[in-house]
Amino acid sequence: MKFILKAIRTFFIFSILTVLTQVGGVIYLLYLPFSLFVKSEKYSFWKSIVMRSIGFSLIYILICLFIIPPFAKKNGRVPLPFFSTEETPIKSGSLLMSLMNRNYVKPLLQDAFFKTAKDVQKKYPNVELIYLDANFPFFDGFPLLPHLSHNDGEKLDIAFLYKNKKTDKFHDKTFSITGYGVCEEPRKGETNQPKDCEKKGNWQYSFLKKITFAKVKKGMEFDQSANRFLLQKIMENKSVKKVFIEPHLQKRLTLGKYKKIKFHGCHAVRHDDHIHFQL
Ligand SMILES: [Zn+2]
Repeated sequence: MKFILKAIRTFFIFSILTVLTQVGGVIYLLYLPFSLFVKSEKYSFWKSIVMRSIGFSLIYILICLFIIPPFAKKNGRVPLPFFSTEETPIKSGSLLMSLMNRNYVKPLLQDAFFKTAKDVQKKYPNVELIYLDANFPFFDGFPLLPHLSHNDGEKLDIAFLYKNKKTDKFHDKTFSITGYGVCEEPRKGETNQPKDCEKKGNWQYSFLKKITFAKVKKGMEFDQSANRFLLQKIMENKSVKKVFIEPHLQKRLTLGKYKKIKFHGCHAVRHDDHIHFQL
């Protein structure tokens, strides 16, 4: 009985880690023999749980930082850097999400992103583009939940640009832990796609907004000209084939003529909290 319970627990942890990080489940199985050194008879129950968690976290982080990237490169995907540099003015919106291996893209998409960031900096010095979810390092078709399409290294989400009303400085963080769920809502008279989609029964359309423990965008305003410029620069990349934003933002930013901007469909989630672009 004890063996069966242990097997169920191992399978449960393996599954959760695989869904969240793709490689975390395998790393957990590799770590299990080492965890036996921390015998629960020797320590109290909670002390052994804490020690095992710390041990696993250390091994997980080391493998994700140093072992996974070269293997992913052989698979045609590279990790986006966590922090910005002069050459690559982009950064992760959440270190936790990036440590979950959600920051991998094909080199072609990385190049387009870096070029966009450099172009934006020429007009808006000090602006660093913030990326959110990208893709996992391995296997086409492996879902990066809750996204429907981020499964091939060709998709990337980034944050909109916000400016501090008082200081005129661009905001350099996201408004929620994941970077999602804080929306630039439709104004009176604008197309209200989220409302339409929800009316049609697509309950998931605004789901991230409902579950996000978001900070209010206090004192920050959506910078229309900077976001328009950013979207134009994204679309200038020949390798970028599609961009998703909400219809009301496309209209507000007078980007109606751009054919690369598509409607993602009511089966997806709303795109007025981030920009999605893809090869
Ligand atoms: Zn996306």
